[in-house]
Amino acid sequence: MKKRIFTDFDGPIMDVSERYYQVYLYCLEKIRQPEQALITLSKSEFWESKRSQVPEKEIAKLSGFAGDRQAIAFAHLRRATVHTNPYFKCDRLIESAIPALEKAQSAGIDLAVMTMRRRCELEPVLDLYDLRRFFKGDRIFCLDDDYVKTVDTQDKPKLMQRAQATLPAVEQQWMIGDTEADIIAAQTYHVPAIAVLSGIRNQAQLEKYKPNQIFPNLLASVTAILHQ
Ligand SMILES: [Mg+2]
Repeated sequence: MKKRIFTDFDGPIMDVSERYYQVYLYCLEKIRQPEQALITLSKSEFWESKRSQVPEKEIAKLSGFAGDRQAIAFAHLRRATVHTNPYFKCDRLIESAIPALEKAQSAGIDLAVMTMRRRCELEPVLDLYDLRRFFKGDRIFCLDDDYVKTVDTQDKPKLMQRAQATLPAVEQQWMIGDTEADIIAAQTYHVPAIAVLSGIRNQAQLEKYKPNQIFPNLLASVTAILHQ
């Protein structure tokens, strides 16, 4: 019987840090009052705060918004903007992701992608980077375009539930992802969870959810799976 890897998309395959940073800069400009002095975080300061899960309202305050009213407005605008179309083009393919997928595929591992992206946010990128050669139609688990999101830690296990109910059984499987949602989705269905550091959480945050292993990126994860 085969082995299967489920991989998350944003974090293991795509680097979304520039999208998130550009949306941060946009929200600062939109929420600031004329003449209001702000402290714009550098990209590395901003991204490290995301990786350590500093709440949005706290990021707003670190950036110089004084009251709750502006901090809440900032957090709402950010949430409404970060998954919108002008900003998706800031995303970049993680360089070692393609070699990782090629390595897994040539070793005969069944590959599936499992992401909180909507279908309309995923498919153009699969085409752009020629990623459908790794993920056949029934190995793509994403949100329908009209799906009403709750929170990732509840929505992602539903994708894993569907995958476990519909895909052929395998001897061994793994879920590779960069957030607690991936780890929880895996653990809920007794799939070993591998966390990667190439995304939006740092080592300390990931350790709280007790993944089976933590690796720098998808390539290191695949390499470890092939050697075990
Ligand atoms: Mg992710």
